[in-house]
Amino acid sequence: MAHTDALSTDYVRELDRRDPLAGFRGRFVFADPDLIYMDGNSLGRLPKATAPHLDDVVQRQWGERLIHGWNEGWMALAGRVGGKIARLIGAQADEVLISDATSVNLFKLATAALQARPDRHKIVTDDLNFPSDLYVLQGVCERAGRPCELVVLPSPDGVHGPVDALAGAIDDDTALVALTHTVFKSAYRYDMDAITRLAHDAGALMLWDLSHAAGSVPVDLNGANADLAVGCTYKYLNGGPGSPAFLFVKEALQETLQNPIRGWMGQRDLFDFGLTYEPAPGLQHFLTGTPPVLSIAAIEPGVDLLLEAGMDRLRAKSVQQTEYLIHLWERLLEPVGFTLNSPRDAERRGSHVSVGHPDGWRIAQALINDMRVLPDFRKPDNIRIGVAPIYTSFEDVWQTMTRLHRIVDEGLHQRYDAGFGTAT
Ligand SMILES: *Cc1c(COP(=O)(O)O)cnc(C)c1O
Repeated sequence: MAHTDALSTDYVRELDRRDPLAGFRGRFVFADPDLIYMDGNSLGRLPKATAPHLDDVVQRQWGERLIHGWNEGWMALAGRVGGKIARLIGAQADEVLISDATSVNLFKLATAALQARPDRHKIVTDDLNFPSDLYVLQGVCERAGRPCELVVLPSPDGVHGPVDALAGAIDDDTALVALTHTVFKSAYRYDMDAITRLAHDAGALMLWDLSHAAGSVPVDLNGANADLAVGCTYKYLNGGPGSPAFLFVKEALQETLQNPIRGWMGQRDLFDFGLTYEPAPGLQHFLTGTPPVLSIAAIEPGVDLLLEAGMDRLRAKSVQQTEYLIHLWERLLEPVGFTLNSPRDAERRGSHVSVGHPDGWRIAQALINDMRVLPDFRKPDNIRIGVAPIYTSFEDVWQTMTRLHRIVDEGLHQRYDAGFGTAT
């Protein structure tokens, strides 16, 4: 293969033939075989096993078993599926639960963290964080019941995390360091061990948002001794639109931290219907209301596929694919004015790659409408290309990059309006 040009179809088809995970592609629904889907980092594809599984949950478990369902698996479901996700993120089974949306879980855990450090007045984060996370942290700070400052450190270049500034800002007045592990725009990936150590050396708690990390990069929460984590399940975990999120609290903190949104699902002996709140043991008290059984059930088939493929093999393929993508950027896109808006170093990069162009919005429109490639777009000029190694082929990557080149080379984007439309 060494003598075959990396731009040739022979080369890319050989890469797909040699891919040990190639068989997993056939276990997802490809309703339109001509559509190249590069947005699995925003909404993962539908696993073929999901519809029959949901059919069983609806027809048999709900339709036939009615209220018995709660004792026949529904009550345990949030913890059972959480326990599977735990294996993807280096946690113990009883440290992860499915509940609510990521933003709500972040509110719960950040509030609990502030309460556990009552003499401290700072939350430290960065400006690469997901905006919803910043909104939540602003609210958490405002209602801390004491002066609280949210320190948002600026990235040096909009791509890489402000690692040096973090080291300077995390001090003995810091209650919590809250960061997104793999950032949504550039895919910059923090060194979880090193940053968690910084937080702990200052006596602060460390919270990681794993929304763009779970199922895309190896994560070892226990290995890093991380305290808290949240993440969504509809991106690389393929849990479906709006599928509920997960939360992680390390075992040693589960009894100390308090859930600020108390509810009966977190109550000890809930069916005693006692009138005074008493938190359930373990992580259970971080639940609030009745779990969304159908939505949690939809998460399981996608997680099972990732566990079967194995995070190590998925990561190896993802690195190979994003490296190949960047090689094609260098050969085809850099010469026509595209910048690389993701880290060059694979070690510091997640599983999507952002490329920028002054005409990025119009190029994205041409890519979607004329070229049948679906990426996503983040203002001002970022075309985000998501590689989901469980079903993305090398040919998908090659097609995306050669079609992007063709658009600019032939000026196909020029017939689109320069103004921003609705994001896809
Ligand atoms: C996608 C994403 C979320 C999603 O939050 P929800 O509240 O579940 O909608 C949160 N944080 C990050 C970093 C994300 O990428």
